[in-house]
This record gives sequence, C-alpha cells and structure tokens, in this order.
Amino acid sequence: MSEAQVFEKPQQGEIFSSLAQHDHEMVVFCQDQATGLRSIIAVHNTTLGPAMGGLRMWPYADEAAALRDALRLSRAMTLKSALAGINVGGGKAVIMGHARTDKSEALLRRFGRFVHNLNGKYYTAEDVGMSEADMELIRLETPFVTGVSPLMGGSGDPSPVTAYGTYLGMKAALKVATGSDSLSGKQVMVQGVGHVGAHLVRHLVQENARVFVYDLYPDVLAAVASETGAQVVSPEEVFTTPVDVFAPCALGGVLNPDTIPLLSCDVVAGAANNQLLDETRDGEALAARGILYAPDFMVNAGGIINVSLELSGYHHDRAMRLTERIYDTTLQVLTTARDEGITPHVAAVRQAEARIRAVGHNRLFT
Ligand code: NAD
Repeated sequence: MSEAQVFEKPQQGEIFSSLAQHDHEMVVFCQDQATGLRSIIAVHNTTLGPAMGGLRMWPYADEAAALRDALRLSRAMTLKSALAGINVGGGKAVIMGHARTDKSEALLRRFGRFVHNLNGKYYTAEDVGMSEADMELIRLETPFVTGVSPLMGGSGDPSPVTAYGTYLGMKAALKVATGSDSLSGKQVMVQGVGHVGAHLVRHLVQENARVFVYDLYPDVLAAVASETGAQVVSPEEVFTTPVDVFAPCALGGVLNPDTIPLLSCDVVAGAANNQLLDETRDGEALAARGILYAPDFMVNAGGIINVSLELSGYHHDRAMRLTERIYDTTLQVLTTARDEGITPHVAAVRQAEARIRAVGHNRLFT
C-alpha cells in the first residue's frame, strides 16, 4: 500500500491498474438475472485477518462508480481495523440498486450465496441501505455474515456502537482544536441521519449540544428532528451554516474543492466513510483553512470493532471498551499530525500501515 491518495474513476481496460493503485487483493463481480443482483465484492488486504466490511446498496450512476466505491471503501476498512487494533482485514461489498425499491429476500439471499462461495475470505455486515433484518436473510445462506441479531448469535446492528465511537472521536478532536472536549453549548451539523447519524444526534443532544440536521429522506429527517429537537436545515445550509463541528454521516466525497471553501467550523468529525474526495488535496485544503479533520476511518471504527468480535466470541462490554479507545487514539494521532506538520489523514494512514507491516513481518516466522 502507498500513501498515494487519489482513486481515479476506472476506465474500460483499467481494472487491474485500479486494483494495483492501492494493492487490492481481489475483486469479485456477481450477477444474477432472476433477482436483478449486480454486486461487487472487493477484498483489499487480509494481512491481519479475513476481510470484513459492510454491504452497501446504492443506486450508483454506473458500474465504474460502483467499482470505485467498493475499492475506496474496502481500503478504508483495512486502515480502520489496523488503526483500531483489531485482527481483521479490509473488504466491502456494494449492490447496485435502490434499497427502498430494489431490495428483496431473493436478491439478498443470492448475494449471500456469493459471499458463501468465498469461504470466509470476506465477511459482510450492515452499511448504507442495509439493516439487521437484511443480514438475517443473508445469514440463511452463509455463516460469513456479522451484525445479525443476538437471537441469531450475532452482535446486532453495529450503528449504535459506530455512533458512540464517532461521538468520542469528535470530543477528542474538539479537545485538540479548542482545549476542551465539552460539547455542551456547541453547534454541530450532522449531514445524514440514517442509522449512525440518528444515534450520533442522540449523544449530542444528551450533552446539550445544539444540533442541525439534514437528510435526503424527508421522513427520516422529520422523525429524528421531532424525537431529538434537532433543527432541520436545507441542503445548501449543510455546508454554509457556521458551527463548531461538521459531522458528515451520509456518503463519501463530501469534503472537496466545492464544499471546503464553504465550511465555517473548527472540526470535521463524522461517521461517513471516505469523506475526503482526494486524500491529499482535500486533507491539505482543510488544514490550510485551519479546520481540524478527524480521519473518518479512525473515529467510525466502533461498528467494525463490534462485529469483528463475533469471530472470537462476542461480548458487548469488550466491544464498548475497545471502542472507547477511539478517544485516546484520536488525541494521539491529531497531536502527532500537529507535531510533525502532516495532515491528520496522513498521520492516521502511517500508523495503520505500520501495524500491518509489523504484523505481516511477524507472520513470516513460525
Ligand atoms: P444509512 O443508510 O442508515 O443512512 C445514511 C443516510 O444518509 C440515509 O438516511 C440517506 O438518506 C442519507 N444521505 C445520503 N446522501 C445524503 C446527502 N447528500 N445529504 C444528506 N443525507 C444523505 O447508513 P448508515 O449505516 O447510517 O451509514 C452512514 C455513513 O456511516 C456511511 O458512510 C457508512 O459507510 C458509514 N459507516 C457506517 C457504519 C455502521 O455501523 N452502519 C460504520 C462505519 C461507517
């Protein structure tokens, strides 16, 4: 792996070079006409253990966009688990389609058959557009799925744990930026109030933060606003409202040359994966604007910590203890970045890759 940052959109004939760019091990294309399944499973790196990462269902504009997302997300999972100190590798799956209209039992079970055929090289779980109930349908076809309900021997939906870790990472980042980790009276913009975003809003209002929210789904948005008292904003106001913290909790690529100049905040800390459209350019642009960026794969590790424990015997207290370490990791990575004059993203990637190299080296010996 390198620290090189940009994922180019794959062109025809360039799939292998796209894989080589960040040294992905394997990509599987799965299709089934009867169920309409079009899915891509990407395995980035299995040095630390079997590839693990959620399943995303999204109406991608085209196949190249779906492949690019699978590649970016699976690499993020490798870095996330390495930095969190857990023993799984990085993988991710995407299904092309709309989760509200194209999802069916047959489609999910067909996807489960494909996962099963990988024989444990890749374990799936929830991501955007997926629920615990969906994982249970996949579980009918394969044991290589996590995040199923405790009644079925799983750890349940990981999003509450993801939100808790993100909340702690946000507090640590605020401490580095301002000297205090208190969110009381602070203003926080949460973009996307799905599974993780909604739980994050609950933590924030509980600490008396003033929370602003926006989501593409009006019903989801209205439900979270009426439950928590968060203030709904327009899509334009997501980036322009002056706040203390901006928390992206929707999709990736939201930190880019169009949005970064609009931001008016001290800290960016949220759960969405791959927030920086271009890791180098956009990481440096945030730093140049004096905005402290808490790397997404560092603060949103709670979910993978939670589901990864299913491999060794799940225990909720242990998952929460490991997730609480995100606070100290965030303090340490952001302080290292400041001391060394590098962006937080680069500092976090270096630390994650150092662990993979060290453990990989160790594995050479009996
Ligand atoms: P979800 O599908 O439950 O929610 C995502 C929400 O984002 C949806 O309500 C959707 O309408 C909204 N959204 C999409 N684009 C938007 C936009 N441009 N503006 C506003 N809202 C928008 O997904 P989730 O599980 O809550 O995941 C949210 C993010 O966190 C994703 O990037 C995911 O990869 C990441 N993440 C999730 C977990 C987890 O445990 N679920 C773990 C780590 C990271």
